[in-house]
Amino acid sequence: MTMDYLKPLPTLTESNRPFWVAAHDERLCMQRCMSCQHVRFPISHVCPRCLSYQFEWHELSGRGVIYSYIVYHQVYNQAFKLDVPYNVAMIQLEEGPRMYSNIIGVPNSVPKVGDAVEVAFERVTSEIALPRFRLAKAHGRTADSHQTSSMDAS
Ligand SMILES: [Zn+2]
Repeated sequence: MTMDYLKPLPTLTESNRPFWVAAHDERLCMQRCMSCQHVRFPISHVCPRCLSYQFEWHELSGRGVIYSYIVYHQVYNQAFKLDVPYNVAMIQLEEGPRMYSNIIGVPNSVPKVGDAVEVAFERVTSEIALPRFRLAKAHGRTADSHQTSSMDAS
């Protein structure tokens, strides 16, 4: 089977392979320090909090909130030429780390900072599944609840 995915792909290395193997299995895993339990991302060989080298790969809930959100209209990379406008979001994960991703499943005008999201893996090649995020159905604010909130505040 040939999959024509022309956008940049991660280069798997010894240090990041567990992240991508888990993602392929639709699990969001990050390093957790075995000394202080700090969950960290991006991947690093040492804990930024306590400097321990001991860590384990820990499965996260996949839940978080939108910490920051923008829509790209400019083509910065020709591989994304057909995608503009597309969104880029920084996700504040429940376990602490933040990661860049995209919000999928809704028009770019819908997601708002503070919205609850859940990870959703998008398989782009036979080896790589990218962690994207969807608005959480149970906890996400809808356009209606935004209006309700502003009415409540007045
Ligand atoms: Zn630590």
